[in-house]
Amino acid sequence: MSDAETPPTTEPTEPNEQQPTSKPEFEPVSVFDDGATMDLRPGADNCYKCSVCDTACPVAEVDDDFPGPKFQGPEQWRLKRKEGSEIDDSIMSCSNCMRCDDACPSSVPLSQMHNTARGEYVEEQMDKLSVEYVRNRILANYRTSAWFASKLPRLANFAMNFGPARWLMEKAMGVTSEREFPAFATQTFREWWRERGGADASRENARTARERRGEAVDAEKKVAYFHGCYSNYNTPEVAKALVRVFESFGYEIVAPEQRCSGTPMFANGMLADAERAAEVNVSSFADLVSEGYDAVASCTSCSMALRQEYPELFDIDGIEDVAENTFEALEYLRIQEDLEGAIADASVEEQAFAYHAPCHARNQGLDRQALELFRELDGVVVEDVGDSCSGISGTYGWKEEKYETSMKIGGDMFEHMHDAAGDVGMTECPTCAMQMEHGTGYEIKHPLQLLEEAIC
Ligand code: SF4
Ligand code: SF4
Repeated sequence: MSDAETPPTTEPTEPNEQQPTSKPEFEPVSVFDDGATMDLRPGADNCYKCSVCDTACPVAEVDDDFPGPKFQGPEQWRLKRKEGSEIDDSIMSCSNCMRCDDACPSSVPLSQMHNTARGEYVEEQMDKLSVEYVRNRILANYRTSAWFASKLPRLANFAMNFGPARWLMEKAMGVTSEREFPAFATQTFREWWRERGGADASRENARTARERRGEAVDAEKKVAYFHGCYSNYNTPEVAKALVRVFESFGYEIVAPEQRCSGTPMFANGMLADAERAAEVNVSSFADLVSEGYDAVASCTSCSMALRQEYPELFDIDGIEDVAENTFEALEYLRIQEDLEGAIADASVEEQAFAYHAPCHARNQGLDRQALELFRELDGVVVEDVGDSCSGISGTYGWKEEKYETSMKIGGDMFEHMHDAAGDVGMTECPTCAMQMEHGTGYEIKHPLQLLEEAIC
């Protein structure tokens, strides 16, 4: 059993007592540092109240009770100048889509403020015995549930979608019964990877590909794959596509020990859980980065967490190196290889896709990459379904009280998907994929799967 297949631990540990790394614009936070040194006020002072962030917020657009990112960020942090002021509970209605970050013309660190405020709210003001806390903790630690489910996937798939069980989960735990639980794979990606021969097999495949491509057999083409939880437990076909595509370009792949990227933990204010996961991930990937590997992720929220949220929120040895050397998979190949050239002569079955750019891809400047790339692929039409948020935001749309909001936010995307020529969806984010499928009934693919079809 590999490390990544060991049962995940979720026991609470002591609060983080580490100090943050410094940045020029403002002093980042130490989230649980006795509540005394958390200080994002200099960042708050950059806000000149233009309200652009509020107009970009998908939750504020459909929920009149949500005060919006300007309040959640700079205003809340200004209020904190008063002794004893508490975090407003509306922070739990922010979905952590991070669109406000991108929208702000004054580089106010909005999502860092939101994550920090949410962490403080959960840590200091939330009843740890409340149904909401327990539900959020379970949702945030998806990897734990997925690990257990992966031991008996067929039974889990039946039980998780058994009507009376779903009714009970909604009534007792507040997990919406409106959604179908995603199926667990009968073989996880890591099981497949081990059975295939792991890094040794990948090295051989990569060498063969480099020979075929006329490249130096000993060329340094090495990537460390951050597959995340969903590709491991639910959609191993996406992870397998990444392996095959990267190997075909001559890359040797390793799949190091890893935990959840922390994305659902940030969104639920479970920052101590997120930091424990980040420590494992940074430790694994920092060693590889120092050996010349780059980190690649197939999920845009995972690459976002490693690049932005980790260094904003935690102080872990090697965190900056990992952040600087992490890439989303398609982004990496477009930088390193002539990807457009590679697919220009490929032929695939004629097909049309309705493409949705996840908010976290947008934040990394990756929202056009699949559209631009597949323009070069004969017989394929990839149509952009607009810049709206899908509305699910990870665990957000799974909460009974947020389900309607989530579906209202996704309304524009569903409509544009129906208007698009294709009846297959495409996106890089697994939870956006869930929402797209839920709202339209379409099958959803990852761009790596189409790339695999074209070049492997
Ligand atoms: S992260 Fe998203 S939901 Fe939260 S305040 Fe910003 S735009 Fe709104
Ligand atoms: S967009 Fe930036 S500057 Fe404008 S109100 Fe929001 S935080 Fe302030």
